[in-house]
Amino acid sequence: MRSPILDYLDGIIAETAHVDSGALADYIPELAAADPDRVAVALCTVNGTVYASGDSEHLFSIQSMSKPFAYALAIEDRGLGDVLERIGVEPSGEAFNELSLDPETGRPRNPMINAGAIAAHALVRGGGSEAVDRVLALFSELAQRPVGIDESLAASELATGDRNLGLAYLLHASDRLAQDPGTAVRGYVRQCSASVTVHDLALMAATLANGGVQPNTGARLFSRRTTRHLLSVMTSCGMYDAAGDWLTGIGIPAKSGVAGGIIGVLPGQVGLAVFSPRLDPHGNSARGVEMMRRLSEDLGLHLMEAG
Ligand code: GLU
Repeated sequence: MRSPILDYLDGIIAETAHVDSGALADYIPELAAADPDRVAVALCTVNGTVYASGDSEHLFSIQSMSKPFAYALAIEDRGLGDVLERIGVEPSGEAFNELSLDPETGRPRNPMINAGAIAAHALVRGGGSEAVDRVLALFSELAQRPVGIDESLAASELATGDRNLGLAYLLHASDRLAQDPGTAVRGYVRQCSASVTVHDLALMAATLANGGVQPNTGARLFSRRTTRHLLSVMTSCGMYDAAGDWLTGIGIPAKSGVAGGIIGVLPGQVGLAVFSPRLDPHGNSARGVEMMRRLSEDLGLHLMEAG
């Protein structure tokens, strides 16, 4: 028998069909070529059952939704103390591609903005192509299938990536980057170009909801402490300069990406993923935010909701 959860997810897609505001990201030429009408939603319980609706097998680039997972990997590799010496945990209130350095310590303010995410990628053990392989192996373990890179997207972003390269050089100049800037940005861009579906992302989010243990394989991918730390950072910093709006209105740890995906995590309960490529002025998927708002309301997911 068809699950009523699938009917519910179909309803989320139907009820948000009117949200056609926003625009495709165009600073990466390949993203500007995306089909703006694609839409998908998926939910994964902490026992590993995935429910998905819409274009749920459509592949798109993970972009900034890779940042939490690479950050967690860097913490597992180096220890939290070492990572905190290089990257802060304060919301920046600025756009994702601002330099946003703490004036006192010179650290990037948090790992969810580009400067902090490039620094986090550079801390993944192995460096260079080994670090990229390890990040991809992690994504594959989280999603339970081999996750690969969209090479033409990576090339497109590298060809237009002067701003990220500039951020990396500034970090390097203030001794906050564990690699040379070119290697760090190349690796970070490849990390962002991993191709995923909402089905994959829901499993990835559910692993965080499950305290760092992939619910189907039982593999512990992050310690409970790392997971708790990561979810706290996603709560305060995950939605760029709309983080406060998101926390008050939707109220779950989340991360968005410029290809149009958003993941959300309700600890102990569920991982969510939505996809729709048109972005609002903050760089978050406009219809994706609306889908998440409905999920949060209907399912009573807001963290601050009593009972
Ligand atoms: N690869 C993108 C960049 O660095 C990620 C941005 C995002 O998804 O917010 O510009």
